[in-house]
Amino acid sequence: MPELPEVETTRRGITPHITGRRILAVEVREPRLRWPVPPDLQKRVAGRRVTEVRRRGKYLLLVLERGSMILHLGMSGSLRVLEVPLAPGRHDHVDLVFAEGLRLRLTDPRRFGALLWTNGPPESHKLLAGLGPEPLSDAFDGDYLFRRSRGRRIPVKAFLMDAKVVVGVGNIYANEALFMAGIRPERAAGGISRARYLRLAEQVRSILEQAIIQGGTTLRDFTDSQGRPGYFSQSLAVYGRGGLPCPACGAQLREVRLGQRSTVFCPRCQR
Ligand SMILES: [Zn+2]
Repeated sequence: MPELPEVETTRRGITPHITGRRILAVEVREPRLRWPVPPDLQKRVAGRRVTEVRRRGKYLLLVLERGSMILHLGMSGSLRVLEVPLAPGRHDHVDLVFAEGLRLRLTDPRRFGALLWTNGPPESHKLLAGLGPEPLSDAFDGDYLFRRSRGRRIPVKAFLMDAKVVVGVGNIYANEALFMAGIRPERAAGGISRARYLRLAEQVRSILEQAIIQGGTTLRDFTDSQGRPGYFSQSLAVYGRGGLPCPACGAQLREVRLGQRSTVFCPRCQR
């Protein structure tokens, strides 16, 4: 599933190709994504330039001269820039067509992604308005987590993955950050000290930053028409390693389900 680092890498990958370019047409081959692609999208965007590509959480915001498109990659979506016309495949649901034949192609086999339109500032759209701060922004730190968690009895892992608390901390990153910070995932969010939240916030930031850096170096060129942007595999300390030895102390890593999500931790290192 595309997580925040993949979405950010996608943003950086497509930005130089489409910023400042005028959209000529929208070709929708399959409008039935998570929400239907608005039938009047073509009418709204044709002729307008893309002024900026922003990201909010896992949403990509294609800001136009007037209005914006809100794009989400869902479970399996990806974007590619095509410089030559390439016949669309079965899962290539939408093309934005720019001048000189350049295309931005949305591929999404499972169709949990979305392509929406808004007239107003995209950050105020109902899908985005309630989102917590960006984990790489100054608004996110240990003090913030400490304050937000007081009185909360939910497991700290669920707290950290709540997009109203902070956006973009998916299951893999939550597992890894809690391991690095030495915090047991089931522990009640409201019972964790400020000092431990300081460490946790630092780990969240550093893991996401590393993933973005790695994405920038391992992702194929976005104009490579052969491959689709492959999501990068970071070397992970605990996620997917239940039953294997802890990389820090050698104890057997334990795997449990927490809120229906696979949760791996070291019973010795995490308290
Ligand atoms: Zn350990």
